Amino acid sequence: MAIATINPATGETLKTFEPLKDAEIAAKLDLAGEAFEQYRQTSFEERSHWLLKAADILEQEKADFAKLMTLEMGKPFKAAVSEVEKCATVCRFYAEEAANFLADVPVNTDASHSFVRYQPLGVVLAVMPWNFPFWQVFRFAAPALMAGNVGLLKHASNVPQCALAIEDIIQRAGFPKAVFQTLLIGAAKVADIMADDRVKAATLTGSEPAGASLAAAAGKQIKKTVLELGGSDPFIVLPSADLETAVVTATRARMLNNGQSCIAAKRFIVAEAIADKFEKLLLEKFETLKVGDPIELDTDLGPLATPDILQDLDQQVQTALKSGGKVLTGGHPLSNRPGNFYPPTIIIDIPLDAPIAQEEFFGPVALLFRVPDIDAAIKLANATPFGLGASAWTTDDQERDRLVEEIEAGAVFINGLVKSDPRLPFGGIKRSGYGRELSIQGIHEFVNVKTVWVK
Ligand code: NDP
Repeated sequence: MAIATINPATGETLKTFEPLKDAEIAAKLDLAGEAFEQYRQTSFEERSHWLLKAADILEQEKADFAKLMTLEMGKPFKAAVSEVEKCATVCRFYAEEAANFLADVPVNTDASHSFVRYQPLGVVLAVMPWNFPFWQVFRFAAPALMAGNVGLLKHASNVPQCALAIEDIIQRAGFPKAVFQTLLIGAAKVADIMADDRVKAATLTGSEPAGASLAAAAGKQIKKTVLELGGSDPFIVLPSADLETAVVTATRARMLNNGQSCIAAKRFIVAEAIADKFEKLLLEKFETLKVGDPIELDTDLGPLATPDILQDLDQQVQTALKSGGKVLTGGHPLSNRPGNFYPPTIIIDIPLDAPIAQEEFFGPVALLFRVPDIDAAIKLANATPFGLGASAWTTDDQERDRLVEEIEAGAVFINGLVKSDPRLPFGGIKRSGYGRELSIQGIHEFVNVKTVWVK
C-alpha cells in the first residue's frame, strides 16, 4: 500500500511519501535506543510537564489537526475535533496519575523489606490504524512515555500527515529528541523491526491478520505484545429498556466514525416483544442521517476511509442478502458522487447460523436480530469469535446482573454507549485481542514489574 494522503471524499491523491530506506530505519532505531538510555533517567515531574504541554498544543491547534484527519480518512470534522480534545484529556490524565500508578508497592513477606517496582521496558513499537488516527496513538503514547519508555510509530499508510503531525507535537512539547519517532514504512518492514534488539515490545490496533502477524514476529523474539483487534459488538435491547434512548444511542453507536470503529455496535439483538417498534424507530433515525462532505459541520456520515473498505463492506452486505437477509434501507454504495460513500444500511432476517452473521461489518451497516428472551440474547451475543465491548439495555436488576456476568467481552455497558475513557481499562478477549490500554492496567502493560526482596 502506497504511503499517501488520498481524500476519501473525492478520491483525489493529495500527497505521496517515499517510505524510509533501510539505512534510515536503522538510524532511527539507533536514535531510539540512545534516547531511552537518557530518557529513563528523567523524573515523573519532567515527563508530566512535557505531556501537559502536548495537551496544550493539541487543544490550541485542534482545528488544524482535525482537518488533517478529515482530509486523510474522512471522519466528520466535528468528531475529529472531539478526538483531538480527547487526546488532550488522556495526556492530562497520565500526566497527573502516572506517578501514583507506578509508585513502589510494599508487600509484607519474610524479607525485612520487599516491594514491587515498575520500570520502563525500552523502545516500544506502536502499529496503529487510520480510524482514530490521533486517539489510537495518544492512548498508547501518553502512558508509555510517562512510564519512561520510548515510542516508535508505524502508522497506517493512508494517514502519513497525521503520523508526522503527532511526532511534531511531541517534539514541540519539549520531550527529548527521538523519544517518539514516526517511521513512514509499509507493513512489510514491521517484522524486521520487531527482530531488532533495541525494540522490546509492541502494540497493534487493527485487523486480525495484522495482529496475528505482529504477534508471530514478536513471539519469535520472545517480546511482549498488546493487541486491540476487531469486534462484532452486540447491542441488546430487552423489553423493560427505555426504547427511545436505546434507539438514539444505537444510531450513534453504529454510525460512530462513519461506522468504522472497533467498539461500534454492529449486531442489534432485540427482544421480540419490542422488535417491531425498535426496527421502525431505528429505520426513521437512519433515514434522517445526512451523508455528505465530512468537512461540513452538519454532516452525520462521511465516506469510508479507502475504496477497499467500501468494496469489502459491500461484498459482506451482498453475502448477507444471499444468505437470506433483507435490506430495510441502503444496501449499495452511493454511485451518484465520487469518494467512498456507503449509505446507512439496515439488514434484517439473516439466519443466525449464517457465517456472515459472525463477521465484523466495518461501516454504517446494522444487522438486526430478533430473539424470544434474555437466554437467546446472551447466546447470540456470545456467538462470535470476537469479544470487545457489549451494550445492553434493561431496567431489570436481575437481567442486568446476568448480562454483566454472562456476556463474553472486555467491557459491558448497561444502558449506555460503549466508549473508551482514560479512567477505565480498554481491550478485548477472544479474537478481539489481549492486554489492556488506558487506566492503571494500560500503563502496566509496558513495564518490568520488578520484585525487590531485601533481608
Ligand atoms: P490493518 O489491520 O491492515 O491496518 C492496521 C495497521 O496495521 C496499519 O498500520 C497497517 O499498515 C498495519 N499492518 C497491516 N498488516 C500488517 C502486518 N502483516 N504486520 C504488521 N502490521 C501490519 O487494517 P486495514 O486498514 O486493512 O483495515 C482492514 C480491517 O481491519 C477493517 O475492515 C477492520 O475490520 C479492521 N480494523 C480494525 C481496527 C480497530 O480499531 N480494531 C482499526 C482498523 C481496521 P499499512 O497501513 O501500511 O498496511
